[in-house]
Amino acid sequence: MTDNAYDVVIIGGGPGGYVAAIRAAQLGMKVACVEKRGALGGTCLNVGCIPSKSLLHSSGLYAEARHSLAENGIAVSDVQLDLAKMMARKDKVVRDLTKGVEFLFKKNKIGYVRGIGSIPKAGEVAVELSEGGGELLKASSIIVATGSQPMLLPNIDIDEERIVTSTGALSLTKVPKKMVVIGAGVVGLELGSVWSRLGSKVTVLEFLDHILPGMDREVCKQAQRVLTKQGLEFKLESKVTGAKRAKSGVSVQYESTKVGAGAELKANVVLVCIGRQPYTEGLGLSELGVELDERGFIRVNERFESSVPGIYAIGDCVPGPMLAHKAEEDGVVCVEMLAGQSGHVDYNLVPGVVYTWPEIAGVGQTEEQLKQTGVDYRVGKFPFQANSRSRATGDTDGLVKILADARTDRVLGVHILGPLAGDLVQEAVVAMEFGATAEDIARTVHHHPGMGEAVKEAALAVAGRAIHV
Ligand SMILES: Cc1cc2nc3c(=O)[nH]c(=O)nc-3n(C[C@H](O)[C@H](O)[C@H](O)COP(=O)(O)OP(=O)(O)OC[C@H]3O[C@@H](n4cnc5c(N)ncnc54)[C@H](O)[C@@H]3O)c2cc1C
Repeated sequence: MTDNAYDVVIIGGGPGGYVAAIRAAQLGMKVACVEKRGALGGTCLNVGCIPSKSLLHSSGLYAEARHSLAENGIAVSDVQLDLAKMMARKDKVVRDLTKGVEFLFKKNKIGYVRGIGSIPKAGEVAVELSEGGGELLKASSIIVATGSQPMLLPNIDIDEERIVTSTGALSLTKVPKKMVVIGAGVVGLELGSVWSRLGSKVTVLEFLDHILPGMDREVCKQAQRVLTKQGLEFKLESKVTGAKRAKSGVSVQYESTKVGAGAELKANVVLVCIGRQPYTEGLGLSELGVELDERGFIRVNERFESSVPGIYAIGDCVPGPMLAHKAEEDGVVCVEMLAGQSGHVDYNLVPGVVYTWPEIAGVGQTEEQLKQTGVDYRVGKFPFQANSRSRATGDTDGLVKILADARTDRVLGVHILGPLAGDLVQEAVVAMEFGATAEDIARTVHHHPGMGEAVKEAALAVAGRAIHV
């Protein structure tokens, strides 16, 4: 094999691409990964999961110091915000993690090619190198892992200063007095929470009549109530028609989808976060005949093969939940199948987590989906208000809700609003992977005092026998 010949070349070094590269190297393949942003880790590490969680953590501490330490008997005065330091901490977390992936590449002898990749023909990746010049890589298998980008609205020009996407909202240099968030999805609620905790008056405009589309409605309704108590204002059934930079700040025009009346909001910063779309620009896919679906995702079969032999695709640029952990699983399974192994991702059991406080998490079917498909189910619910650990920490908002098949008792969905819901839901994911019944969870010993006891109690409640309510 010549120097530029590989078993696999991966375009994109996000969680899909870099994890695929590491797994392929573990399986003995010669691998290169092409990345154009100057750092590994993709959207997730650089402008997504990690910086947002860093700011959620820091802003949470600030809000706690200002509002809840006193009730714990801790008097602090003169709590000051040093936003530049908070941002510097976030940047360091990001830098350390992206460097960590670079280290893993070296350890696994993966070629890291900095530049823009394209596919002139199957078996070849042309790279416009970041340092200048070009390089042609040859590979029997090419994996496209180029991820996604924010969806934009017509009539709204992003300047990443006053009218921002999530990327700009992760790096504001000043706390805006007023912020308008367009879209009550995961990113809108997380970043809206960050800036609200830091002092912004945040208004969320949402086209639908509920927040967090796709998640269990009952849980989301409760979440909306809790977030409203924290200071976020929600204007549902509001269609944004435009946003313009004014002398100072921005004016946002919207109309009620219910009554049709138009209105305007003024804000210092507007965050547009109405979702993400696949990013496949400049790869040369259409020239190659790689089929995309009507929304621009690369069509792949269960082996991640595109319509052109030798070209595979994974992560955010293929259909499915646009989540880092899903992209990673795609990457692992894709290269395992290239190595002749069998692999499997259970897309029905990809957990989704919103890292607000309390967190919102869900896996499996929602109650709405079960109703729609006519499945006969039973529901068990348990409020954190009745969980002793939650009472001890003061995190009593929310509930655990378990949906189980009425005939077999098999768990079909678990939805949680509550402290560390994201960690709690993982128990349900494992249980559901093993086909557990609600009774299996109910009869599993849970440590006391633990928030996990609320999961056990909800499982007991499916059979109408919760103990502590
Ligand atoms: C604010 C925010 C918060 C998020 N929080 C979470 C979260 O908490 N949990 C979660 O699971 N998900 C979260 N996500 C989603 C998550 O970031 C994505 O699902 C994940 O990054 C997708 O991984 P990927 O590898 O498919 O693509 P990406 O991470 O987008 O990586 C693709 C990479 O490909 C590179 N690339 C593109 N084209 C080329 C080319 N031609 N040549 C070379 N390189 C190229 C890009 O520069 C990019 O680095 C969040 C997203 C955002 C925006």
